[in-house]
Amino acid sequence: MKLTIHHLYADMMNLYGDRGNVISIKKRCEWRSIPVEVVDVGLGERIQPTSRDIFLFGGGQDREQALLAEDLSGSKGADLRAVVEDGGVVLGVCGGYQLMGHSYETPEGERLPGVGIFDLTTEPRKPDEERLIGNVLVRVRAPETDEVREIVGFENHGGRTYLGDTEPLGEVVAGYGNNGQDGTEGARHLNAYGTYLHGSLLPKNPWLTDQLILNALRRVDDSFELEPLDDAVERVAFDSLADRLR
Ligand code: GLN
Repeated sequence: MKLTIHHLYADMMNLYGDRGNVISIKKRCEWRSIPVEVVDVGLGERIQPTSRDIFLFGGGQDREQALLAEDLSGSKGADLRAVVEDGGVVLGVCGGYQLMGHSYETPEGERLPGVGIFDLTTEPRKPDEERLIGNVLVRVRAPETDEVREIVGFENHGGRTYLGDTEPLGEVVAGYGNNGQDGTEGARHLNAYGTYLHGSLLPKNPWLTDQLILNALRRVDDSFELEPLDDAVERVAFDSLADRLR
């Protein structure tokens, strides 16, 4: 029951430390003796799903996004869409999240094609608008348990994301979220998650890390359970930020 973490464009989309998400999933598997492997998927390399996968797509600058939008526009993007429609787990953060929608338009007016996993588009900030930067607290309804949970992180994006027929990941309690206007943050479609939260996201939000691992491994064994871990340190990290934001 090996879990494979596919790190998309690891050497390009790593400007905001989202590699911490790879480390968090890997360690929380190793601490439970779940075999886990990390596979970097770069430009020109096809994705190779194993049916027990988590795909991670981090954040980056417009320049890198333009380079990999081309790479994603062919069979690779279609393969990633197929993984999602088959229940595969994908987490896109910021620049990666933006390219999981229909398009991302840069401030220079270049419209980059997205993969179309989420029904959303991202528009550039207007010349008189600032980048959306700061700590964020988001309230998430976890469909697996119907519980209302919270996640914390840090956002830094110029793009404004507008959802079509796609559910948000959650609602903003503090911070800007998708566009600083409609109170939504991120997106969720089946087991594809999109968010603007860097930090990196997963180390301070262990419940979400475990939910991603469970969703991935339950595709092959729907009775799979994770043994609990001592998350005292993670809780201190979460509370130190969440309490300040509340
Ligand atoms: N380049 C995109 C923007 O500025 C995404 C930035 C990021 O990944 N943090 O909106």
